[in-house]
Amino acid sequence: HDIIYEVTCRAVEALGGIMLSFQDTTHLHQAGQMRRDFVANVSHELRTPLTALMGFIETLRGAASKDEAARERFLAIMDAEASRMNRLVGDLLSLSRVESEERVRPREPVNLTGLLTSVLNSLRPLGETANVAFVKNFPEGEVTLPGDADQLRQVFTNLIENAIKYGGTGGRVTVALSVAERDPALRAPAARVQVTDQGPGIDPRHLPRLTERFYRADSHRSRQLGGTGLGLAIVKHIVNRHRGRLRVESELGKGASFTVILPTSAPAQADEQQA
Ligand code: ADP
Repeated sequence: HDIIYEVTCRAVEALGGIMLSFQDTTHLHQAGQMRRDFVANVSHELRTPLTALMGFIETLRGAASKDEAARERFLAIMDAEASRMNRLVGDLLSLSRVESEERVRPREPVNLTGLLTSVLNSLRPLGETANVAFVKNFPEGEVTLPGDADQLRQVFTNLIENAIKYGGTGGRVTVALSVAERDPALRAPAARVQVTDQGPGIDPRHLPRLTERFYRADSHRSRQLGGTGLGLAIVKHIVNRHRGRLRVESELGKGASFTVILPTSAPAQADEQQA
């Protein structure tokens, strides 16, 4: 990468000379570039369904205006395109909310066992449609941690929805919950939730970029399934906000496994200030 310096030149009379100062502003330029890329991506993602909608409106006015069957078919497609835009705007709002809250640590006690059970129950109809079986692997008793229940619900909804979506028909989605007295990555007591599917998996070269906004390992499949490309970016930000970690393990043809590791105790005051 190029390094961008801002150079300031000042005459210093006391020294009888000039002083040059160099400031590394690479990060500012990179942030600006990222912002521009993001706006370009959002515009592109919104324009695609919008163009389709405008095309169908035109067709409904013209050639299809007297063909009842064609009209119904086009309206169904328009409905799907409008829903895609709606999901995209919803995900953009969620992302912007979690990004702005990232420095505020959530502290409400959340019953993780109950929350996961409730997420699985609400996704059961989607699982049944895709003929996917859920396997629950939970410890005895309840696991509780300090967090934001709504946001954690979104994390596990996104991960389990992806496992159903990409896992393919007839497969199994396993949700395993466990606790560790001291997680090596967090160096603290933690809860781990692992969501595993039996789908086509992800090529390892995509793994480092998977949580970037709009990054898709299989763009065609994601769009076909109505994905916004923002689900994992939202997951990553919420997990960060909880001082947790997200791990992805996958091999092509061998399914994918997403693990969320969350601290089960509130941080000490000193850690909080550092974070
Ligand atoms: P999308 O809305 O496209 O699903 P996500 O941010 O949720 O966006 O996921 C990013 C990309 O990661 C997806 O487009 C897909 O290529 C890949 N992906 C996510 N979960 C899985 C999974 N369980 N199996 C295979 N690929 C996955």
